[in-house]
Amino acid sequence: MAKKVAETDRSFASGIRVDSKLRAARERVIEVAGPITVYTASNKTAIPGALVTEDDEDANRVKGYSHLISQLLGINEFPDGVVHYGEGYANAFFNGNYLVFGEGDGEVFGNFTLSLDIMAHEFGHALVSLGPGLLYSGESGAMNEHLADVIGISVQQWTSQDQTDWRIGEEILIDGASAVRDMLHPGQAYDSPVLGKDPQPGHMEQYAKVRHDNGGVHINSGIPNRAFALLCEKTGEPSWGRPLAMWRRAMQDLGPRSRFRDLAAATWRHSGGLNPAVREAWGEVGISI
Ligand SMILES: [Zn+2]
Repeated sequence: MAKKVAETDRSFASGIRVDSKLRAARERVIEVAGPITVYTASNKTAIPGALVTEDDEDANRVKGYSHLISQLLGINEFPDGVVHYGEGYANAFFNGNYLVFGEGDGEVFGNFTLSLDIMAHEFGHALVSLGPGLLYSGESGAMNEHLADVIGISVQQWTSQDQTDWRIGEEILIDGASAVRDMLHPGQAYDSPVLGKDPQPGHMEQYAKVRHDNGGVHINSGIPNRAFALLCEKTGEPSWGRPLAMWRRAMQDLGPRSRFRDLAAATWRHSGGLNPAVREAWGEVGISI
């Protein structure tokens, strides 16, 4: 898979081949099965569990989404998926081998297979682990989270052809108002008595020096997230076009301990005609190139 990523990354077109079946499939359960093999943990926590053999709504969604993700990214090899993980399990994760989805607690979080951007986010972690292998703590960990969000939002925006929605995971929040993250407006994804307030900063001056969350990996990712969204807003470029291609190329220049400024410099090197906007976008979150 790593080799395929490198190959597709050579082109700025970034594997964008919109097929008409996909356009029609937007916002519905997608009936085209993608390249993923899906197992069910049958509400237990042993992974992978059993191969899904009968009609399973969650598995069908994951298969359809894998088709969309592979179409946009030009990647046909997928880690296997696991649905119905645990009981009331309110999360999704990539464990190094499997993309794993819980059904949610039914109170705050709904089923995690409902969100295309979350699935694409978890797939993004697989790409990061095969590519730069960013350590999952502190700033490199926050960048790992950021790169997964870039993959997530690009697939979502490409599928919906909507460049204005920068929210991640809004489909799984039962209140219908919140999202898990907001890439353009970090810190504004949610604010409720149950969830508290979104702690994400959108500028290096607010970088959270914390111990929990592996040193704030899901918190400080707001900073590069905002730079990516700002770049798209400033240039009018769709996330899934040149910005995504730029970020995928930049990923190849990173290593396990890379920091935000290394990514900023790498995106600048791979930015083609967008250099001034790239510098500006990173500058607005406090990272100078
Ligand atoms: Zn993540």
